[in-house]
Amino acid sequence: MEIQVDLHTHTVASGHAYSTLSENALAASRRGIKLLGMTDHAPSMPGAPHLYHFGNLAILPEELYGVRILPGVEANIISHDGELDMPTLYLSRMQLVLVGLHVICYPGGTSEQNTQAYIKAMENPFTDMMVHPGRPDFELDLERIAFMSAKLNIPVEINNSSLAKEKSGAWGNCRRFAHYMFQYQGPVILGSDAHYWDRVGEFSHALELVREAGILEHQVLNTSSERVLDYLATRRKIRPSIT
Ligand SMILES: [Zn+2]
Ligand SMILES: [Zn+2]
Repeated sequence: MEIQVDLHTHTVASGHAYSTLSENALAASRRGIKLLGMTDHAPSMPGAPHLYHFGNLAILPEELYGVRILPGVEANIISHDGELDMPTLYLSRMQLVLVGLHVICYPGGTSEQNTQAYIKAMENPFTDMMVHPGRPDFELDLERIAFMSAKLNIPVEINNSSLAKEKSGAWGNCRRFAHYMFQYQGPVILGSDAHYWDRVGEFSHALELVREAGILEHQVLNTSSERVLDYLATRRKIRPSIT
């Protein structure tokens, strides 16, 4: 399975990542990635950039080293209602909105509360994809998330970094999640979640779980940059217009 797109990468702007956009793009180009998301953490994470960072993304080139660049954000869910830590006006200007749960930014809760928060964020018209549900930081009903992914046609990530870091429990969770995704046939997306250039376009662990679960190429959105761009275009159509 060939992966052409990495939508989940961080730059120095995130505060705990160590490469520039140019370094990430060069690494992407060497790995055969055609479309690269630059998704730094939204402001509620310690060390993350100010909103002004996100307000100035339009100055970036559309392409670097032959790789198309999609600047966006990895927004944090900050409440049990699935609220995000970025004003709607800013979200409406992003080319790419990833959403996930992160320690410190989210208060924590029961499995039911966490799952509800996650699903509420999936229903947000500004959300393009959900990230790392298999991280063991918060308990989630992974079967319900896989079911909702298929129902809402929202891609949910199998995150390579969670597996590479061997966070305890991540392999078991991600393996179960991959099986549920296969069962319900929602759109799967693989993300490197690179915080350094050498991880950009690196999906070996996530691909192992995809193969194990029997997930085929047609279910994995980022096997084609055209499919990802078509999908994002359909999301742009349903975004409410904000002035
Ligand atoms: Zn990070
Ligand atoms: Zn994250």
